[in-house]
Amino acid sequence: MLEEDEMLDQDCLFCKIIQKKIPAELVFEDDQTLVFKDIYPKASIHLLVIPKKHVSGVTDPHSLVEINAIWSTINKVTEKLAIKDKGFRLVINSGHDGRQEVNHLHFHILAGERLKVL
Ligand code: AMP
Ligand code: ZN
Repeated sequence: MLEEDEMLDQDCLFCKIIQKKIPAELVFEDDQTLVFKDIYPKASIHLLVIPKKHVSGVTDPHSLVEINAIWSTINKVTEKLAIKDKGFRLVINSGHDGRQEVNHLHFHILAGERLKVL
């Protein structure tokens, strides 16, 4: 197990949420992942799923190591919120053109209504 300071980036907003230095509305937490409400929701349910280890995004090779845990968490959370059967959308923004604002891997879960066609 890595020490906390090897796993986290002290300048990263989501690492600060992991360390509870910045408050967030947590929905789910386990050893490897955290789920919290997006502060500017784009749908009636808008959650962010992140690994507890700092990984800069989907193009970071270390993101592969985290994906099983993230997938498992998405399944647990959508079940818990009763949106697994109704449906939901997963979004990952990557890089400048993809408008990624926070450089810590995160999946957006959008749900709670019938979403617009992309
Ligand atoms: P992205 O553009 O994919 O990097 O998404 C970053 C998301 O983080 C945006 O949807 C923001 O609304 C959200 N966000 C920024 N600051 C916070 C915060 N303190 N707590 C929760 N969500 C946040
Ligand atoms: Zn981070």
